[in-house]
Amino acid sequence: MIVNMSERATEHEINHVIERIREAGYQPHVTRGTERTIVAAVGSGRRHEIEALQAAPGVDNVVAIAQPFKLVSRQLKPERSIVNVGGVAIGGENIVVIAGPCSVESREQMLNTAWAVKEAGATMLRGGAYKPRTSPYDFQGLGLEALKILSEVRKATGLPVVTEVMSTEDVEAICEQADMLQVGARNMQNFALLRRLATVAKPVLLKRGPSATVKEWLLAAEYLLSGGNHQVVLCERGIKTFETEMRNTIDLAAVALARDLSHLPVIADPSHGTGKPGLIAAVSRAAVAVGADGLIIEVHPCPERALSDGAQSLDFAGFGRVMRALGEPLRQTASKPAKVQAAS
Ligand code: PEP
Ligand code: MN
Repeated sequence: MIVNMSERATEHEINHVIERIREAGYQPHVTRGTERTIVAAVGSGRRHEIEALQAAPGVDNVVAIAQPFKLVSRQLKPERSIVNVGGVAIGGENIVVIAGPCSVESREQMLNTAWAVKEAGATMLRGGAYKPRTSPYDFQGLGLEALKILSEVRKATGLPVVTEVMSTEDVEAICEQADMLQVGARNMQNFALLRRLATVAKPVLLKRGPSATVKEWLLAAEYLLSGGNHQVVLCERGIKTFETEMRNTIDLAAVALARDLSHLPVIADPSHGTGKPGLIAAVSRAAVAVGADGLIIEVHPCPERALSDGAQSLDFAGFGRVMRALGEPLRQTASKPAKVQAAS
């Protein structure tokens, strides 16, 4: 339930509503907008007591939250959220490009890649230390050694880093070295992991599961927000369909829908979303056109030698071409629909 306070509500009246929500058995969540304050009653409690707040001083109206996800919904927070990752704002005016290899393989590979993608215009670095591989015989990542490399490369280049966390056991070590923790597609509904990440002071990049609906994806994000971590960025990385020519089917309408239903920033992953380096420029432009707040793209110094996902990775020249295809004019027009949408 949402209690919309009137524009003239006093601090005392807002506090009274917060107190009554607690008494009714719900958790109060306050959103202070530019014009008015919204107090949400989240969880389960005595609904009729919240409905009765219609009669409390300073209350404009009481409405039900239409969707099962509450804290991530735009009904509760109409203004778009901006997530700050080591000084880079995701969800603001600029399209954020995160680039780097699928896996961290060596110090040299990461340093070369970081400088190359930075030069081309990327503002964040990616690289997997713990890899979720379909086969147990495939490269599983360098683990702690990779985390140290990421941290060193971050210091050298100034690029904030994102890396995947697969297990609650690794959360602490990753938090020490990385700026953002990625929940991979296969772990989108790993509820123990989500609950743990809800308690950390680092932003989370939550990938959509390959067979998850948009509602399930947003409910996974709700675990993070309801546990206390509001620094969440959503990532569409393609879903399973009957298509066989591409690795996954990137669902760009879901990018627009997630941004419509939620205030959280949404980025797109055209590398996993297509599996084809030749499609990355076109799909990146399309993602930005539908409102994506950023892109995450796999780049490797020598894709044919990559230990994972080489077939879908761009080399430095290819990444440079993608960045030029994205171009400044598109960036500017792309930020306009987002602004109009936020104001409606
Ligand atoms: C990755 O980012 O390399 C990765 C494994 O992604 P996903 O979880 O989307 O498959
Ligand atoms: Mn990968």
